[in-house]
Amino acid sequence: MSHITDVIAKVKAKNPGEPEFHQAVEEVMKTLEPTVAKHPEFVKAKIYERICEPDRAILFRVPWVDDKGEVQVNKGFRVQFNNAIGPYKGGLRFHPSVNLGIIKFLGFEQVFKNSLTTLAMGGGKGGSDFDPKGKSDNEVMKFCHAFMRELFRHIGADTDVPAGDIGVGGREIGFMYGYYKKIRNEFTGVLTGRALEYGGSLIRPEATGYGAVYFGGEMLATRGKDYKGLRCLVSGKGNVSQYTIEKITQLGGKALSFCDSGGTVVDEEGIDAGKLAHLMEIENVRRGRAKEYVEKYKNAKYYEGKSVWDVVKDQGIKFDCAFPSATQNEINEDHAQAMVKSGCFLVSEGANMPSNLAAIKVYQSNNVLYGPAKAANAGGVATSGLEMSQQSSRWYWDRNEVDQKLQRIMKAIHQQCLDASEKYATKGDYLAGANIAGFVKVAKAMLAQGIV
Ligand code: NDP
Repeated sequence: MSHITDVIAKVKAKNPGEPEFHQAVEEVMKTLEPTVAKHPEFVKAKIYERICEPDRAILFRVPWVDDKGEVQVNKGFRVQFNNAIGPYKGGLRFHPSVNLGIIKFLGFEQVFKNSLTTLAMGGGKGGSDFDPKGKSDNEVMKFCHAFMRELFRHIGADTDVPAGDIGVGGREIGFMYGYYKKIRNEFTGVLTGRALEYGGSLIRPEATGYGAVYFGGEMLATRGKDYKGLRCLVSGKGNVSQYTIEKITQLGGKALSFCDSGGTVVDEEGIDAGKLAHLMEIENVRRGRAKEYVEKYKNAKYYEGKSVWDVVKDQGIKFDCAFPSATQNEINEDHAQAMVKSGCFLVSEGANMPSNLAAIKVYQSNNVLYGPAKAANAGGVATSGLEMSQQSSRWYWDRNEVDQKLQRIMKAIHQQCLDASEKYATKGDYLAGANIAGFVKVAKAMLAQGIV
């Protein structure tokens, strides 16, 4: 048994009932195989074992009172995974599917992603099984305050800096920040993704989606191409999806789809700026459903109960680029095969772990340019890092300045992936490149700091 196989087996045995965490560890560890021979010092110091174990996992009760006066109880989580290279940093997810295994997978991924950004940030993640859907603003506020009533004692601007994720946008960050400020009596950069009026950064809302498109652009350039005229499928209809659609259109591509958990919309005419504004109104203001789009744009088609990738499989829509931006494991092997058959030659992952291991194999064996999440969607957390810098220096950059920095960071991440893939694996294997480049930096820092 190789050292890596042994580590994976131990992680599975020691963390039963956490399939998403197992999947994330397996995906990363398998690509780290070439580092074992090159760095015997990592093996000796048990870095591979230590990096799979979070520094700590905090679980807490979140009791709150709904509009009917009834007491509700949710679970709260914060997993502080690794702070070898900087304070823990990573989003909070509010979704009924949230459990410890999902938060651990996200926290583990975040360690490598944050390392790739070139900034000094460790990895963490948190959230709750609370579902903001269908709740009044008052209920969301009550929940966010109750959540922060416990979380506040574990976080801090130099300790752990949470941000948004699924179900946590500007509204939720505002309520949590307000409560933290009240009970701590301090105005610090303890959360990112804040609105501009109270310390947020320009471009932070756009950053994950824009970054995924910039990363895709870098991959396209390696084949002498750009986005002009390319047909792109996007999944999800939340924060990441919206700004992915916007940037694709700005760069001359055609964004054709979005979805939510109810179904998928395909608009063959393309989702231009006007249509995107309508989608944003549905999602961000009305908090409505995907199907409402086709009430206004009658030429678009709605597929009830289907994901974007189900529609590709059923309808064989021709397209070039995929931007999965909804959730984990939305693309399986069958979907990936249908995507390749439909002409897809680029996948840039906005969501975290949207492709399962079998789907990734399909991309790799069909020469698809595959930008894994921890590289392709790192623009979000990178811009959170820029928000932290601005907060600390009390000096705010204009839109163009932040966007330029984001583009530079995505270019640097792309280059690190290429360089590491060439040094340790096969040039152009972005999955191995991202995992190895992210890992080596954290591993060296852990080694330097001794057994802690
Ligand atoms: P949002 O909550 O803004 O949007 C999520 C979207 O995905 C919603 O449209 C939601 O639909 C849809 N969705 C969720 N689960 C499913 C499902 N099982 N099937 C179909 N659609 C689903 O979240 P974000 O846009 O912020 O996050 C999307 C992804 O991007 C996540 O994987 C997140 O971890 C990742 N990410 C986000 C970052 C950020 O900066 N926000 C940074 C890096 C990664 P519905 O409303 O019906 O649930």
